[in-house]
Amino acid sequence: PASTVPQAPEDPLFGLMAAYKRDTSEKKVDLGIGAYRDDNAKPWVLPVVKKADDILRNDPNLNHEYLPIAGLPEFTSASQKLIFGSDSQAIKDGRVASIQAISGTGSLHLGALFLRKFYNPANPPSIYLSNPTWANHHQIFTNVSLQLAHYPYFSPQTRGLDFTGMLAAISAAPTGSIILLHACAHNPTGVDPTQAQWTQIADVMEQKGLFPFFDNAYQGFASGDLDRDAWAIRHFVARGFELLVAQSYAKNFGLYGERAGCFHYVAPATASAADASRVASQLAILQRSEISNPPAYGARIASTVLNNGALFAEWKENLTTMSGRLIGMRAELRGLLEKKGTPGTWNHVTDQIGMFSFTGLSEKQVGLLREKWHVYMTKNGRASVAGLNSRNVEYVAEAIDDVVRS
Ligand code: PMP
Repeated sequence: PASTVPQAPEDPLFGLMAAYKRDTSEKKVDLGIGAYRDDNAKPWVLPVVKKADDILRNDPNLNHEYLPIAGLPEFTSASQKLIFGSDSQAIKDGRVASIQAISGTGSLHLGALFLRKFYNPANPPSIYLSNPTWANHHQIFTNVSLQLAHYPYFSPQTRGLDFTGMLAAISAAPTGSIILLHACAHNPTGVDPTQAQWTQIADVMEQKGLFPFFDNAYQGFASGDLDRDAWAIRHFVARGFELLVAQSYAKNFGLYGERAGCFHYVAPATASAADASRVASQLAILQRSEISNPPAYGARIASTVLNNGALFAEWKENLTTMSGRLIGMRAELRGLLEKKGTPGTWNHVTDQIGMFSFTGLSEKQVGLLREKWHVYMTKNGRASVAGLNSRNVEYVAEAIDDVVRS
């Protein structure tokens, strides 16, 4: 009955977007939403995606039948290779069970549901999230009644990784706890562990018997190199961990609204293909009751590119275009702030990677940026670097300089 349903608060990020849309100032700048924009502040359809789209549209055999419950087979197999590497021993052993899901969010949800149902359901372990993390993680896991716990991640002093705090919290987690890890380009901080630090994280998790769940939403966006961005996941898999991966194609293909993604279960090195196959059978049952069949078009586009050598090479160039522009904007913003002598240090703007910069600006400064300068970012001081371009970066630097001094 309607009278018992309380009004829910607006999603903060989408609320910010609406406020930006309402703002009539010509100077307004959107550093809120985590979606790539080109130098004209416009969404960018990757040229390789346009090509794949043309190929699909001209295919006389294309129809709108249901996909299989587990999704488009050539999409899920190419997704495995992309994340685990084409020579992955786990794939060769048949230890990977993959199922197409509703982008990253749906993959996380399916993983959450699977864990809740099959991972010690009478006494479920907690899931440890980084502090801070992508806000939606909290809801996705509490929706399935998993207990949340947190590990420190960001040091406000260095505006880099709080590695000591992170490792200490993970070491103290009860055996069997699930640890959610951002595979690369951590949202919201833009700060990733180094490869040496990942190795130490894996050491502790191995010693303590902890369960990794990787959120992989930005492969190709961190370094611009798909293999390098998959390093942490491949390291854990090579060490024989049993783990989960939620893989999104929203950012790296610009397929935000198409909801193309894939969820993977990797059985431990000591297990066999039969173990992965039992998991796959249960995932299919969950999928059937949740969405029945995954959406086709985005998966077809990604699959067309991933399975064609020439298009794959072109995709990598498109990725470099995006990551290169973001790196360039970081350098420009930092340079402008340092030239102005804006109080504080600004090296974190270029040290951080991926789509976001955790600027270190306070909630008050963020409010002032919005009211006085029409520059929009989330309250926690996260700026989407993709919102910067050659026409507004000087204005944004001027605005930041002003609010930092006031
Ligand atoms: N995880 C993280 C860390 C993200 O930043 C995002 C996108 N904002 C996602 C998952 C999921 O995005 P999508 O469902 O659009 O693939």
